Amino acid sequence: MAEDAKTLVRDLIDHHKMPVTFRPGVAHACYSDSEVDHARAYADHLATQYNYTQTEVLDRPGIRRLIGSDRFVGGALDHGAGHIHPLNFAIGLAKAAAAAGARIHEDSEVLTFTPGPKATLKTAQGSITADHVILAGNGYIGGLEPSYPSRVMPINNFIVATEPLGDRARDILSQPVAVADSKFVVNYWRLSDDNRLLFGGGESYGYRFPDILKTVRAPMLKIYPQLADAKITHAWGGTLAITMNRMPALMRPHPNVLAGSACSGHGVALSTLTGKLLAEAIVGDASGFDLLASVPQPRFPGGATLRWPLLVLAMTWYSMRDRLGL
Ligand SMILES: Cc1cc2nc3c(=O)[nH]c(=O)nc-3n(C[C@H](O)[C@H](O)[C@H](O)COP(=O)(O)OP(=O)(O)OC[C@H]3O[C@@H](n4cnc5c(N)ncnc54)[C@H](O)[C@@H]3O)c2cc1C
Repeated sequence: MAEDAKTLVRDLIDHHKMPVTFRPGVAHACYSDSEVDHARAYADHLATQYNYTQTEVLDRPGIRRLIGSDRFVGGALDHGAGHIHPLNFAIGLAKAAAAAGARIHEDSEVLTFTPGPKATLKTAQGSITADHVILAGNGYIGGLEPSYPSRVMPINNFIVATEPLGDRARDILSQPVAVADSKFVVNYWRLSDDNRLLFGGGESYGYRFPDILKTVRAPMLKIYPQLADAKITHAWGGTLAITMNRMPALMRPHPNVLAGSACSGHGVALSTLTGKLLAEAIVGDASGFDLLASVPQPRFPGGATLRWPLLVLAMTWYSMRDRLGL
């Protein structure tokens, strides 16, 4: 299904002639030898169990050639993964949906939702009834559906963009790949088409954002101290949703209400696939939806009430381990 998700993204880009380029290559950068061993074992597992042979394991000189940083001892480069401009992709999907007859109402938050054979959804401006409802509000859905909060947790993540780096960009990444490191609070980065470094990292809980520039610049400079003089021109963040096992949460809380979300940071490809599975389920073929929904989805310890303080405690513990290099 993960392979289907990547193929679907590429096919949609091509079919709808979106102004989006799929750039192949996502590297996994490791800080310790044991993490490199794990990356190698994972690549072997994918090759022997799934016939997926596109992962190249990198030693210290190999990762150094790819990533202009001395921080890493090795890693892996997945030639079958890739990265895209996600906003252009989202706009491309919206245009394709509108051209197919869908009506998209922006700025219309659903405030209440009453299930039933004809479900009712109310916004501040009005209400509609619907034969089928798809709940896809992800980290922003709040308490709209009570079965959600014990399994789906909102979490904020942040990105900064430097000024265009010109020729210096080649010393940051020698190939146009994306990278994620092996930290629990993951750092991830790539170059934009105009050679800015887009660097993501940091996490916060609750809907308040920290000082994004400070939060993300610190890990960026640990990896690339040579960028201390590079101006940061943009900083932004958003709320995504995670599950305990980081698998997407597909649920059917009522017979005619389907929910799909919490792709846990992998939604560019997986939420695209989830959207297709939700649509297929509504028109009568629920096999893909049922398969993904059948993956056990543990509740967060503490359920809806205590999951928040417990998650913050757990995340703080793991981010402390990151800082101590454990
Ligand atoms: C900073 C950051 C970096 C990320 N990096 C990556 C990455 O590198 N790779 C990757 O694959 N993924 C990444 N993600 C995650 C990815 O963005 C999400 O997995 C993906 O957007 C999920 O898509 P979705 O459609 O499920 O939810 P969303 O894109 O969150 O969309 C949910 C929509 O529902 C709407 N909504 C919510 N509640 C209501 C309501 N009550 N009424 C009406 N509308 C409502 C919201 O306004 C929103 O438009 C990142 C996320 C963030 C924030």
